[in-house]
Amino acid sequence: MRYISAPWRAVYVRRAPSMKRCIFCEALKSRNDRVPAVLFRGRRNFVLLNRYPYTPGHLMIAPRRHVADFVEARPDERAELAELFQTALRVLRAAYAPHGFNAGMNLGPSAGAGVAGHYHLHVVPRWTGDANFMPLIGATKVFIEDLDTTYQRLRPLFDEERRRRERAGRAKRRAAAPSR
Ligand SMILES: [Zn+2]
Repeated sequence: MRYISAPWRAVYVRRAPSMKRCIFCEALKSRNDRVPAVLFRGRRNFVLLNRYPYTPGHLMIAPRRHVADFVEARPDERAELAELFQTALRVLRAAYAPHGFNAGMNLGPSAGAGVAGHYHLHVVPRWTGDANFMPLIGATKVFIEDLDTTYQRLRPLFDEERRRRERAGRAKRRAAAPSR
C-alpha cells in the first residue's frame, strides 16, 4: 500500500495523546448527528465521517461498545461491521465514483491509532493519481471537500440504506410469520 501524505493530519496526531475523552463515545451520545457527523446508527455499530480526512468521503465504522481490540468484538458486532462496510462501499461509489478504496484498522498507538481505546474501521476512497497530487496541494486542502458538504452528500444515501433495511426486515418478518 502506498501511503498518502496528508500534512494537515499532523495537527490531529499531535493533539491525540492529550485527548482524554473518546470521540466515538462522545459522538454516540450526541443527540444531533450533524455535529459529530454521524451518518448511520446500526444496532451494534455506527458510521461517522473522519474530521481529518485523507480524501473526501473518508469515513469510519465503529462499535457502540467502547472496546480497544477487534479481537474482543462479538459475533453480532463483527457481522454488522461487515454489512456496514459493504454499505459504505456502495454509498461512496454512488456519491464519488472513486477508482478504489483503502480500508483497515490501526490497532494500538504504535500502529498510528489516533483513538486507541475504541477500535474503528477506516474506509478511504481513492482516485488514480491522488497520492501524487495531494502532497503538492495538501497544505492548502484544495482536494479536501468541506466536511459539511460531504455530510450533506452522504447522509441521504445512508438514510435510503436505512429505509431499504427496514423494508427488508419487514419482508423477512412477514415471510417468517406462520401462514393460516
Ligand atoms: Zn469509546
